[in-house]
Amino acid sequence: MGRVTVVGAGVVGLSAAHELARGGHQVSVVADREATDSVSGVAAAIWFPHDVDHSGDVLESAAVTYRRLAELARDPRTGVRLRAGTVMSRRDDVDTSWTRAVPHTEPVAAGVLPDGASGIRCTVPLVETGVYLRWLREATAARGVVFRTAGFGSVGDVLRHDDGDVLVVAAGLRSAALFGDDDVSFPIRGQVVRLANPGLTEWITDDDNPGGLTYVVPRRDDVVCGGTGDVGSWDERVDPEVEAAILRRVTELVPELAGQPVLSRATGLRPGRAGVRVEAVAGYDRPVYACYGHGGAGFTLSWGDAARIAAMVGPGTFRGTGPGEDQYEAEAS
Ligand SMILES: Cc1cc2nc3c(=O)[nH]c(=O)nc-3n(C[C@H](O)[C@H](O)[C@H](O)COP(=O)(O)OP(=O)(O)OC[C@H]3O[C@@H](n4cnc5c(N)ncnc54)[C@H](O)[C@@H]3O)c2cc1C
Repeated sequence: MGRVTVVGAGVVGLSAAHELARGGHQVSVVADREATDSVSGVAAAIWFPHDVDHSGDVLESAAVTYRRLAELARDPRTGVRLRAGTVMSRRDDVDTSWTRAVPHTEPVAAGVLPDGASGIRCTVPLVETGVYLRWLREATAARGVVFRTAGFGSVGDVLRHDDGDVLVVAAGLRSAALFGDDDVSFPIRGQVVRLANPGLTEWITDDDNPGGLTYVVPRRDDVVCGGTGDVGSWDERVDPEVEAAILRRVTELVPELAGQPVLSRATGLRPGRAGVRVEAVAGYDRPVYACYGHGGAGFTLSWGDAARIAAMVGPGTFRGTGPGEDQYEAEAS
């Protein structure tokens, strides 16, 4: 069992391919879209287990990913940085289980946030998606992984066209159609508007804002302002009224954003599911594994779930070579 095919070239598929190649497998990634053209290219993307349950497995994967991204943040070429910010809440029953995966958190001092709100300050990895996804693809290719472009209608269709020994389906939202798993999978539509950065460095999330999900995530060249979390909506068009409402909310939260020019806008469909699916799936002529349903946390869980899939598949004997093969380990050690 040496040849593994991964369907999906988003952050989840690329991370899984990387870890499988690192574990000694000859890996092919096959997808009909590049990561930057999928929902992975739309994400904000801060480390936070958003729009997923906070089960033990999810929090463990989040913790593994936190550590890995924090190591990668030491190399500016990866596009990952550690950034301080605030998780704001306007409810009494706040779920703080995620803080177990973060080395240090502290309550926001009274009087800083709007009346009735509380907050947790912490430092988490922030991923510049464009830079990171390109880096990840190159790091994966450097491990000997090969890339192909193709689209499929079902897992059976993939297996008919593929001569690999093992199949990993990491196709995001459309994994459900490949497995016929639509009854527990659903889109969670997100809309963002990216503004010129007036010099902000701290992020803030305000999930319980009465006007809707609100967040401000400053990156190197822009500020990602969001958002929406429309469960069940397949609409990928940018809605100008929604954008106007987002701009009102973020400006109220972070007044420095007032009047900043709009640089770009986007929507994306988060792969929602009744629970993240990382498991072997029986009933096929070869071992098949599922790795999808990461909701608003695909970046947050990517390395942890990739390691989980690699452990399920087990070690291989192939050793990929290429420029930068062990660059990551050298730089992270
Ligand atoms: C507005 C917004 C903000 C977000 N913010 C964050 C954040 O701050 N932090 C965070 O962790 N996450 C965030 N997310 C969520 C994150 O973007 C997703 O969880 C993640 O990108 C999912 O990655 P994926 O690889 O599973 O899927 P995708 O990125 O959708 O990739 C799917 C891949 O599978 C391929 N594929 C699919 N079906 C087929 C098929 N039938 N045949 C061939 N190929 C196929 C596609 O071509 C693509 O390569 C956000 C999402 C949105 C929309």
